Amino acid sequence: MDSKPTNEFIEFRKNIFDTFKIEEDNIMSALQIIDVNVTEICTRKCVFCPRVDKNIYPNRNLHMSLETCEKLANDLADFDYKNQVVFAGFSEPLANKKIFEIVKTFRDKLKHNNNISITTNGDLLKDDTLKRLLDNGLNLLKMSLYDGPEQEERFLEQFDRCNVRPDQYVIKRFWYGPEEEYGMSGISNRVGMMKLNDREVPIRPCYMSFNSSFIDWNGDVLLCTHNWRKDVKFGNIHKNSLKDIWLSEAAKTMRQHHILNGRKGKSPCTDCEVHGQVYGEDSFKLFKKYYER
Ligand code: SF4
Repeated sequence: MDSKPTNEFIEFRKNIFDTFKIEEDNIMSALQIIDVNVTEICTRKCVFCPRVDKNIYPNRNLHMSLETCEKLANDLADFDYKNQVVFAGFSEPLANKKIFEIVKTFRDKLKHNNNISITTNGDLLKDDTLKRLLDNGLNLLKMSLYDGPEQEERFLEQFDRCNVRPDQYVIKRFWYGPEEEYGMSGISNRVGMMKLNDREVPIRPCYMSFNSSFIDWNGDVLLCTHNWRKDVKFGNIHKNSLKDIWLSEAAKTMRQHHILNGRKGKSPCTDCEVHGQVYGEDSFKLFKKYYER
């Protein structure tokens, strides 16, 4: 494979973001991605992931319940959320045996949403699994492939066999070595839990808390998709609505810090090497104005 594959994926993602409308008088329109961690199990141990060492981040037999899933979907339906719902998190989402019902719940509650996706390594993706996910209303499979080009060929054959349309999947090629950052654009050191290169942690503001929300398996709303330490939580959806948590003082304090000081002096961001400004600038600007009112 000669070209840097993630460039294609960045373009693909940017095109998705471009379809989302920021509304000046609607702060909820800043929310563009909901990342849902439906399980604490992964089928792999990748060298760039904290799961490589079970003393750092072990597999745990913990899964999002249908009750939590329904609460989250209801909270999103309350403000007619149309942007991305991604079942990805810190795990392999197909390891949650209720994943079909979870997808169906979101599909039923979010009737106007055409952005429900799963990020999967494909290890558990049998033909019938694939069909059930799509029949239950999944819009997109994001295939994170780590083994090599032959793995891509195998999945393309499967998609063909199962009549999966090209617009229903995207391939992310992560089989490259460390010198190519494993095929990732902007590899994450998981807030310092992984030492992957000698890059300096940037000070610039990160837009992640302005345009995304991360929901853990138990309903906790975490700072972001990179904070594997889980040491900053904005609330829990079983206690408050997602909207209230998104607009809470705790979230505001974090965002205000990024607006005024960037990551400097703010844990865990001070340890995070994520670029932070590839997506989300419009959401950042919207919140900036919102907090100035
Ligand atoms: S700097 Fe890192 S830890 Fe902080 S919000 Fe951004 S991605 Fe998350």
